[in-house]
Amino acid sequence: MSEFAINEIFQSVQGEGSHTGVPSIFVRFQGCPVGCPWCDTQHTWITDKKDTIPILELATKRQEAPTHAIFNSDTLLAEFTRRGYTAKHIVITGGEPCMHDLLPLTTALVATGFSVQIETSGTFPVRVHDDVFVTVSPKINMPGKYPILAEALLRADEIKHAIAMQKHIDELDTLLASVELTQQPVIFLQPISQQARATDLAIKTCIARNWRLSLQTHKFIGIE
Ligand code: SF4
Repeated sequence: MSEFAINEIFQSVQGEGSHTGVPSIFVRFQGCPVGCPWCDTQHTWITDKKDTIPILELATKRQEAPTHAIFNSDTLLAEFTRRGYTAKHIVITGGEPCMHDLLPLTTALVATGFSVQIETSGTFPVRVHDDVFVTVSPKINMPGKYPILAEALLRADEIKHAIAMQKHIDELDTLLASVELTQQPVIFLQPISQQARATDLAIKTCIARNWRLSLQTHKFIGIE
């Protein structure tokens, strides 16, 4: 059975994209080589064995740290039950979860009756169950030098692009022009760090193109 390094598990409300407002169990994977300078989860980048902690300790972890526990699909489902979680939607995020083959894990989660969403940078193949809702947040021209894969864009149910300036919208345009999308994903623009200028630009562009605005609503109300 596949095992995964998980940085944190928590229950909250999805704050971004199409599922905004949906009660969700977040499963944050450890490990990401993409290197976005503005990444707000830099503690997930490196997976080092010395940072492995027991599953029970993960529940009491309070600060953002690279510590992580190793799970498989059985122990993950058991942990949801042990914590008494009630949400029916699971968000697999990171880090970059698509560094792993997630087909067995997502198949087990879907078979248990959960709806499953995955958040990925689009830099790795998306190996998940067909019913999984895929959010590609393309991290273009980042220091890790990973190209955005056409196959990831083709699998996307929504494309959620973080922007701070016009250059980021231009980069998205170039990316979208490079691939013939067979299903038309919903496109969101999400201002980086709630900056006022970025928010203004995102609103104007969304109105002009009939795209959607995604705000990190969890940050506005101070929840995880
Ligand atoms: S892909 Fe996500 S986790 Fe990785 S560096 Fe970029 S924002 Fe951070």
